[in-house]
Parts: sequence; C-alpha cells; structure tokens
Amino acid sequence: MCKVFAESWSRRQFVAGMGAAGVVGGLGWSGRAAFAQSGMTGEAALRELAAGNERYVAGKITSFAEDLEILKAKTVSSQEPFAAVLSCADSRVPVEIIFDQSINHIFVCRVAGNVVTPEIMASMEYGVAVLGIKAILVMGHTNCGAIGAAVQVKDVPGQISALYQHMMPGISEAKGDVGHAVRLNAAFQAQLMRESSTVISEAVKEKGVKVAAGVYDLGTGRVTML
Ligand SMILES: [Zn+2]
Repeated sequence: MCKVFAESWSRRQFVAGMGAAGVVGGLGWSGRAAFAQSGMTGEAALRELAAGNERYVAGKITSFAEDLEILKAKTVSSQEPFAAVLSCADSRVPVEIIFDQSINHIFVCRVAGNVVTPEIMASMEYGVAVLGIKAILVMGHTNCGAIGAAVQVKDVPGQISALYQHMMPGISEAKGDVGHAVRLNAAFQAQLMRESSTVISEAVKEKGVKVAAGVYDLGTGRVTML
C-alpha cells in the first residue's frame, strides 16, 4: 500500500471512529472494503460525509493526495462505496470534491432538481441492496435553477418541464421562496425514498440504513443537514 493511501485510510478510520477495525498496514484494500460494507453504520457513513465537507470548507482536501492508479487498479471488478448521494446536475456542485472523496467512496446519482424519478429510485435500490450502502443523502443546493423554474412554473422548451411533476408535491408550501423550496424539495425527496421503496424502507428498518436530506451552500461550500 502506498504511503498516501495508507495515511488517507488511517484518517478515514479515525473519522469514522473505527480504529478497532484493524492495523492499517495489515488489512490491505480488502480490509477497507469489508470495513466499508459491514463495519460502517449509517451514522458513521453520514459522519464521514460531514467530515469530508468540513475538510473542503477548510481548504484542507486530502482526497487529491490519494493514489488514483492504485484506487483504479483495485476497483476494476467491484465497488464498495460507503454512501450514496442524490444531487442536482448543477455544475457548481461537484459531489466528490465537496465531500473530499475519491474513487470508490460514494455512489452518486445526479439529475436536475435532485428529484427521485423511477430510474433514480432503481439506482439507489441497487446501491443499498447490492452494494451495501449504509447511508443516502439527498442534497439540494442554494440558487437551484431547476427549483426556481418549478416555483415560478416557468414555460420552458422541450421536456424540461417533465421535472416539475417530481418537485411540485414537495414545494407547494414554499410560496415562491426558492430557498425554502430547495429545503422542502430535498426533505420531500428523502422522505419519498425512505417510504415508497420497499427495498430502502426495509433496509432502514432492518439494517440501520440512514436516508438524510441536506442543502449545499454555493457561497460557503458548506452542506447543512436538514
Ligand atoms: Zn440545481
């Protein structure tokens, strides 16, 4: 194991409070893989996302120091992400960067307005049932153009308005306030995922999987959990 990767891994163990998982140098990649799927709780997965965002906000990103060649080589045949994130497609919300994560760490689904369509639900169910993900974060962001358009019921070309139907039930109480609508939408989509998928709702009840909602602030870089 290269030095930077070992250090990164050691840091992750520390952050997740999993220091008892084993001696860093002795576990190798497979140790981290087993740790990610079976050892990490839903709470620990959310804490790791929060800790990564703290590093990003503080300008102390460490994931760039990870050896991408090793990460790629060790993950060709399988993936072991510890969390999933549903975010908007907005180019100002680069999910891995704002959580200071690298290859194989988070399962990211993106669609304008971070809405739960059938395809997004299917992807998240795959993440939970097959990959063993322990936490899902639905993350909206400030100044979201998709939410802003839906709030104003803007006339838009092509199929863009197809997104509206997924947002409307959640943002009806926003009364034109886009910031409020962003928060309402994130909370609504998380609730939808938690309650309307039998795969995810059972995982929440029986495996301690967490489904959370949050908002990313474009100005500060901080993710606030709702
Ligand atoms: Zn957006």
